[in-house]
This record gives sequence, structure tokens and C-alpha cells, in this order.
Amino acid sequence: MVKIAREYVRLVLAMGPHDKDYVDAYYGPEDLKKEAEGAKLTLDAIGTGVKALQAQLAAVPAPADELGQLRHHYLEKQLSAMAARVQMLKGERLSFDEESKALYDAVAPTYPESHFQEVLDRLEKRFPGSGSLVDRYDAWRRAFVIPREKLDTVFKAAIGACRERTAAHVTLPAAEQFTVEYVTNKSWSGYNWYQGNFKSLIQVNTDLPIYIDRAIDLACHEGYPGHHVYNALLEQHLVRDRGWIEFTVYPLFSPQSLIAEGTANFGIDVTFPGRGRAVYEQSRLFPLAGLDAARAPEYYEVMALVDQLSYAGNEAARKYLNGQIDAAGAAAWLERYALMPRERAAQRVRFFDQYRSYVINYNYGKDLVRTFIESRGGTPDRPDRRWQEFEKLLSSPRLPSGLR
Ligand SMILES: [Zn+2]
Repeated sequence: MVKIAREYVRLVLAMGPHDKDYVDAYYGPEDLKKEAEGAKLTLDAIGTGVKALQAQLAAVPAPADELGQLRHHYLEKQLSAMAARVQMLKGERLSFDEESKALYDAVAPTYPESHFQEVLDRLEKRFPGSGSLVDRYDAWRRAFVIPREKLDTVFKAAIGACRERTAAHVTLPAAEQFTVEYVTNKSWSGYNWYQGNFKSLIQVNTDLPIYIDRAIDLACHEGYPGHHVYNALLEQHLVRDRGWIEFTVYPLFSPQSLIAEGTANFGIDVTFPGRGRAVYEQSRLFPLAGLDAARAPEYYEVMALVDQLSYAGNEAARKYLNGQIDAAGAAAWLERYALMPRERAAQRVRFFDQYRSYVINYNYGKDLVRTFIESRGGTPDRPDRRWQEFEKLLSSPRLPSGLR
């Protein structure tokens, strides 16, 4: 397994020059990186290498212990996803669902327009008037934008709250820390770049207005107990404690991403169960942002409805990537069914172009993680158990099909 793991890392690194987004993080041995770079493998050579490695792995008997089995299964799935990504880079086009199955080991449910229309009808009643619903909603929401000059203060407070709550339940490596940067001109709104040694760089995109609820979203998702903690726990438990080198590299277009995004999103609910989040934001973040805290309940009431439109984004991506609608059509769909104002819809379509079926990892990933944690007794009424199961998932190489 040591040889197989090493060769896996070398092949993932070899993908870098062919796909700038593929190697999301690497903190393994420097010589392995130099070796991979020096070899300048073609896509065909990587594809051949993956096949050979799959055969070697199949010849190794699966271990008896659960973690060992998860590791074995993880490598199998990561390799088959790499083979699919190689084919895509060579020009092969899969349907949206075929692609998500091949890369992320999951197929998200499909919803008809009527599913979203029912939610939109309720929002229509909440925001009566002329013009499009998205414009009326957008105008209302402007009162909840964090002013640019208060962003860092609000974000730091949110990170502090998320860290404190996470550290009360999860043993974090002593050296863990991250830095925050504000950036522009990206297709995403936030990003965690894991750097190894329990450190992350978190970037927040300020191209578009950042609403008050995004502070906790970002702080939990990118930081605690999201990506930063997930990566730090994998480094602690799998890389350092066990010497499993394959976890020093993170190929973005792989099943691991569904677990990463799903846990990062579900982690928000684990950290702030029930009304806890609204209470915290109203009492602490609204004042820090200079917003009218008396309007917080109204804000969360509407956001709970809008949240039910989350899968509309997947439908736009599915139709767009399947060639049923063009970029303008996808943006129009997002405006109408996901209530994204024009510029945000345009940003989202750029995300579809760059990351494609990756979109399912956020919402479907969250739903799969929730079902898994709750099936193990981590229900909302048992917060300690919920954290325990969550930490266990963050510290193990479990993959999407293993959540079902
Ligand atoms: Zn993420």
C-alpha cells in the first residue's frame, strides 16, 4: 500500500499541468512533486498509469479493520474519478449526471419547475408589487449587506464564534491556524487553500455584496468546523498518525470533494443548531455590521424560504451542461428560480463553466452527510453525539457511496 499510495500521489500531481484546478492542495514530500513535474506525463500516460495502479490495488486484499477498508475503497474511487477526469480533459463529454457519478460518486435528485414555483409563490406573497420578484427581493435584501469597511471585523467575530463552538467538541491540532485574505474577480465567493502543517489560507471574494448571514456561512464552511478542520484532522489522523501519504494531496475533481463540501455545509447546522444561529447573529453580528438588529427575525424568515430554492442551482447547471440551455438561459433560470440577481447569476454561470457538476457537492453533499450522521444517532436532539459522529467523519476517508 505504501508504494500504491506514493504512485497515486505522483499521478495526481502529474495532472497539475493539464488542469490548473485539479491539485487543490499538496503538502507531501517535495521530492515527489519534483519527480512528478520532471516526468511531464501526457494525459495518455497518466491514464495508463491509473489503470496499472487500479490493477495493483485490486490485487491487495482489503484489510480487516474499518479504517483500512475505507482507505482501500477510497483509493479505488479516487482512481476511477481520475480516469474519468483524464477522459474529460481529452475531450470526452458526459451528461451532467454521468459526470457527477464518475467524479463525485453521486447523482443529485432532479426537481421540476413546479417544485420551486411553490416556494416562489410564497415569496411572491411576501414581496408583493410590480416588476420581477428577484428585483423586489434584491431591493429588500440591500438592508442586510455588511458594509465593506466592517467586513473584516464581522468576519473575524464569526470565525471566533465558530472556532469556540467547534473546539468545545472537537480536538483540534495545537498548531492549527489560518489567515484571511480579501480578493476579487473569482467565480466563487470563498475558498480555503489548505497548506499543510495545520494551516490554511482563506480567501473571501468581495466582487459582490456580502450579506450578514454569509459571515457565519463562510466562517463555518471555510474554517471551523469546515474545510480547515477537515483538512487538519485528515493530516493529524491519517497522514501523521498513520503515514498515509495519499491524503497529502487533494484532487478537486474527485469524490473527496463531496465529503469536503457536504461536511463544510452541514457543519454550520452542527455548530449553530436550531435558533442558535439567528440568536447569535442578531445579538452579535448585526450590531458589529451596523445593521438594524430588530429586523433580524424578518431576515431569517425570508432566508429559510429562499434556502428551499438551493437545488434550482443544480437544475440550471444540469440543463446548461447538458446543452439544453445556453449561458444566457442558465443565468435567466438562476434569476427566476434561484432568485439570484443578474450579477450573481452571471458569476454562478462562470462557476458552472469552471467547476461543472461540482455544484452538487454543496447541497446534495450536505443532505447526504446529514442523513449519514443522523442514521448514526447524531440527531439534533443529541448534540454531543452529533459532534462525535461529525468529528469521526471528518477524520476518516469515507466516500459518498459509503454515506448511504
Ligand atoms: Zn467549500
